[in-house]
Amino acid sequence: MERSVSKELLLVGAGFSGAVIGRELAEAGHKVTVVDARSHIAGNCHTERDAETGVMVHVYGPHIFHTDDQEVWEYVNRFTTFKPYVNRVKTTSKGQVFSLPINLHTINQFFDKTMRPDEAREFIEAQADTSIEDPQTFEEQALRFVGRDLYEAFFKGYTQKQWGCHPSKLPASILKRLPVRFNYNDNYFFHRFQGMPEEGYTKLVEGILDHPNISLHLNTRFEREQVDEYDHVFYSGPLDGFFDNDLGRLGYRTLDFERFTYKGDYQGCAVMNYGEESVPYTRITEHKHFSPWEEHEGSVCYREYSRACEPEDVPYYPIRLVDEKALLAKYVEKARQLDKVTFVGRLGTYRYLDMDVTIREALDTARGFLDRVENSEPVPAFFVDV
Ligand SMILES: Cc1cc2nc3c(=O)[nH]c(=O)nc-3n(C[C@H](O)[C@H](O)[C@H](O)COP(=O)(O)OP(=O)(O)OC[C@H]3O[C@@H](n4cnc5c(N)ncnc54)[C@H](O)[C@@H]3O)c2cc1C
Repeated sequence: MERSVSKELLLVGAGFSGAVIGRELAEAGHKVTVVDARSHIAGNCHTERDAETGVMVHVYGPHIFHTDDQEVWEYVNRFTTFKPYVNRVKTTSKGQVFSLPINLHTINQFFDKTMRPDEAREFIEAQADTSIEDPQTFEEQALRFVGRDLYEAFFKGYTQKQWGCHPSKLPASILKRLPVRFNYNDNYFFHRFQGMPEEGYTKLVEGILDHPNISLHLNTRFEREQVDEYDHVFYSGPLDGFFDNDLGRLGYRTLDFERFTYKGDYQGCAVMNYGEESVPYTRITEHKHFSPWEEHEGSVCYREYSRACEPEDVPYYPIRLVDEKALLAKYVEKARQLDKVTFVGRLGTYRYLDMDVTIREALDTARGFLDRVENSEPVPAFFVDV
């Protein structure tokens, strides 16, 4: 339904957050400007065809769409065709290739056994360190769940490389549930809907942004003074960056990708993890396996390295340990003093968000905004609990 009084709205960032909120508000009749500092849309989900091989590459790391949210699934399917895709991950450890997440095949192969589910459950319970009653750290949690052998082969080195610190320094909450399956299901995700956009994520975001009320400006960095030019701003850039980091920087991990090509099939799967500390990278992604319906003779692979994010790097994973949470609280307080800016998305709210959650929150934010406008109520700095 078109509103009679249309507002001038600025969306900072052309990732899923900015695109979906922008689309919803444009459809409601508002005039929407989307800016992004990068030369492309889709944020960290950006995909492009590799010039040398023709393979669709996930430029900022592998992205698999999975969700239980029917509305979000229908939403993304409105703008592009999704192909069936099941994420199956392998890991190389101790000179062998195993299946992840740890399942009955992994357990039987690792311990050189042929156990049935009940036997394996009993066996793993016997491995678990039951002297740890209330696990506080990642390491304790893993030892409590799976015991030392599986912890050292599959969690310790990978986690150390991923987070740049020993698992005994990380909170137990990172390893939430029992990370083991007592059957042969090696589908990485449990969600009802899973797939890959046939022409990549950038094409999908292009479809979302394609609306006559949306004007898009790439290579355009947002400056805080611009707030005055608009009725409201939705900001999906880094929360601390909005305030020029004046209270300090929120910690992130960043990723470096070492690209290499191969003639043929390099590793036979999309993602191969490397759990051992002696291997400096965390995983190798072979992008053509994300599009199994396509055929390419050549192959593009990324070796992925994780490290602390410096000011000029792309922020990937928020760290959210005790120090960061204290600083975050101060920035949230500052943000709440503003009256025309709403902070959204993974960077604006300093949380790791899967794409489906990002889209869900974007839809809810747009609806929340429209309701506030309709009822002449103030629009909050955050629609979610950060
Ligand atoms: C390595 C990795 C793998 C992932 N894999 C998956 C997966 O398999 N499945 C899944 O569901 N999710 C995955 N995700 C999560 C997914 O990337 C996010 O859900 C998604 O990118 C969030 O979208 P966003 O719009 O909030 O942020 P972003 O995509 O980061 O978009 C923010 C945009 O804002 C722009 N911007 C920032 N500051 C400014 C400024 N001052 N001026 C102008 N523009 C600015 C940036 O250039 C960027 O384009 C993964 C994330 C990572 C890091």
